[in-house]
Formats: sequence, structure tokens, C-alpha cells
Amino acid sequence: MKTERLFKTPLSEAQRRNSELNHIECSSRRTVLESYPRRIVFELTNKCNFQCVMCGRESADFKTSDLPVSVVKSFRSFFQFAEETTLHGWGEGTLHPRLPEILEYLNTFPLLRKYFVTNGSTLPKIMESVFEHHVDLIAVSLDGVTPETNNAIRKGGDLHREIRSIKRLILEKERRNLDYPYVNLVFTAMARNIRELPGMVRLAYETGVPEVKAVYLTIFNGGLSGESLFDRQDLVKRHFDAAREEADRLNIYLKLPELQGESEAAELPHKPCAFPWRDFYIGSDAFARPCQSSADRLLSVQDLATPEDAWNSREMQGIRLAVNDPKLMPASCRNCYHSTCANWNLKKSFLQLNGSFAPEWGAKDPVIPAAPASAEPEGVQ
Ligand code: SF4
Ligand code: SF4
Repeated sequence: MKTERLFKTPLSEAQRRNSELNHIECSSRRTVLESYPRRIVFELTNKCNFQCVMCGRESADFKTSDLPVSVVKSFRSFFQFAEETTLHGWGEGTLHPRLPEILEYLNTFPLLRKYFVTNGSTLPKIMESVFEHHVDLIAVSLDGVTPETNNAIRKGGDLHREIRSIKRLILEKERRNLDYPYVNLVFTAMARNIRELPGMVRLAYETGVPEVKAVYLTIFNGGLSGESLFDRQDLVKRHFDAAREEADRLNIYLKLPELQGESEAAELPHKPCAFPWRDFYIGSDAFARPCQSSADRLLSVQDLATPEDAWNSREMQGIRLAVNDPKLMPASCRNCYHSTCANWNLKKSFLQLNGSFAPEWGAKDPVIPAAPASAEPEGVQ
């Protein structure tokens, strides 16, 4: 969930009340919710025009699909309560062939915030839609400040082209005198590029971008194991400190992951996870999943009469019951590598060479056991 600081669009009373109730229901670990999700994630497509060396799409038997527009529209009853729609998952969401139509439709709910992550290559093509249909927030992924580094990691990427597009976006925002979209840069830190993180802060400054966010790389492919930052705290700390200095000097907001050994999750498989309460994640195959980092297909949202039925389905109740319970949680959560919830004290958050990597979008039964009819934990009123 993006912090309030990033969004200019105010929340309605209905959204505020829903979010409050959702917080309460999450804290009390209810499994059947009266609240709607605070965020609905639509993986618009899992196609991509890049072949980044670390991308899971390159490590799996990946089946591509575009999310039908009808699935997005079927959630209309959620849109006055949810705070945000996020339009990405695996793949480059902006390649959805009907993106402008989807943005236009979502913009008929004027207080619903719209956000996506992009590889930046499509920015010139989608720029008009971004302004016309009020995209609130765009995160652009860049993994180096030299073409040698960035373009070798982000195969298909062109650092100079992406920088030109970002500058144009920022200039156009100023020319139109608009306060959206908020733009940030996302940097996936690994051994070969971490020394360029301070430079990424400078690049943000030079392009007029107010924020840089760094995340650790999780490695699934043995060929990349030398890129792991596990047990390299000295290297990480040195470059994090240098990046912080640059950020302070240039007044750039810098978000860094915790250092290995400093996670409050200690030895737990992951930090407390709020995703199955806060978010409703719909993959491009129209299957709900626990989050982007889990390949567990819970249920097809097209098979149920209403999205409300899907939100409180036995499968969603099951994941709410299981996600934070070390005895019940599915393997995907036990091996959580999600940038928000992973326990970065543990090797498995950085390296998962023996696991099967995520998206197995074949016909497959859901792997989460359905919750029993009375799934509420004790003590919940
Ligand atoms: S741009 Fe994103 S989805 Fe596409 S290959 Fe790179 S990491 Fe994967
Ligand atoms: S994989 Fe991690 S972030 Fe995703 S639902 Fe499981 S615990 Fe939460």
C-alpha cells in the first residue's frame, strides 16, 4: 500500500470507514470480512517485452494471458470502498491491449487511486492516457545508472531511452500544471549493481523524480547465485549509507530494505502478513492469488456470482487462517520473498535455488486447503 504522502486524491467517507474496518478485521484475524479490500490488484497481463536476467518469467514454464476487461468491470461494487487499484503483477501491465479503456473505466470512480509499476519502455505510448485518466502513481524499474549495467540486467531495456521518457513525463506534468502522477524509481539490488545505488539517487534528482526505492533480489536461477547479497552486509551497508548521504544532500526520499540480521521477524518464516485482508490480488488468468509472490491459485473469480462471494470464499478464508500460522501456512508463504513481508534475516529470502519458482499458470487445483465452515479464530466477535 502506498503511503498517504504519495497520493493527492482525497479519500471519501466510505473509503475511510472501510479502511478502518479492514484494519480492525485484519488485527483481529477475522476470516470472513465485512470490509472490502483496501487495494485491488489486477495483473493486467503477464506478457513482457523485456527478458530481465533475474525475472521469474524466465525461470518458469510461463503461460501468458491478458486479464479480460470484463473481470476488471465485474469489481465495480468494490470501487467506491477500496482506496487503490494496482495494475501490475508479473509482466508489463501497460502492454494490455485495452489499457486506455481500463484506465478510462476506473477513472469513472474518481476517488479510486490508480498505480502501476512499469519497465518504462511504453511511457511515450501511454502518456496521454496517464494524464487523461488520472494515473496517481507510476514506479519505473531501473537497475543501474550506466547502460552497461542496466541494459545487461534489464535485457530489452535502454537506459537512455527510459531516462528520456521519464524526463518527458515529468516535464509534461509540469506543463499541464498537474500534481499527478507521482513517479518513483525502483532498483533491484544485487552484487553487480549495488555500487550504483547512490548514482540512482542522483539520477532521480536529475530527472525530477522525488523517490528511489531499493529492494533485494531473490535468486531462483543458479546462474545468478553470485549476485546474492546474502551474508554481504558490509557491502550492502556501505552502499546503503552512501545512498542515504546522497538522498539527504539532494532531498530525495530513499526507501531501503532492512539489513540482514536486523529484521524484527527474527527466525520466523516471514513478517506478519496482512495481504489476504488488505489486498485482493487477481492474476491475469482471473485466478485470485495470496499476493504477487505466491503462485498459489486460490479460485477463479469468474466462477463465482459476485466478487463479494470471491472475497469471502472458502479459499480466501483458508489463506487468512493459514498465512501467519507456521503450522498451516502454504509453502509459498513459508518461503516468502515478497519485498514487504520476507524475513531478510534468512538465506531463503535471498536464495531459493532448490524451490520451484512461482508462476505455474497451468490447469492446477488450488493448493490452499479450504477453510472449514466456521473458520473464525477464537475470541473474534
Ligand atoms: S520488465 Fe519486469 S516483468 Fe518484464 S522481464 Fe523485466 S522484471 Fe520481468
Ligand atoms: S507469500 Fe508472503 S506476502 Fe505473499 S501472502 Fe504469503 S506471507 Fe504474505
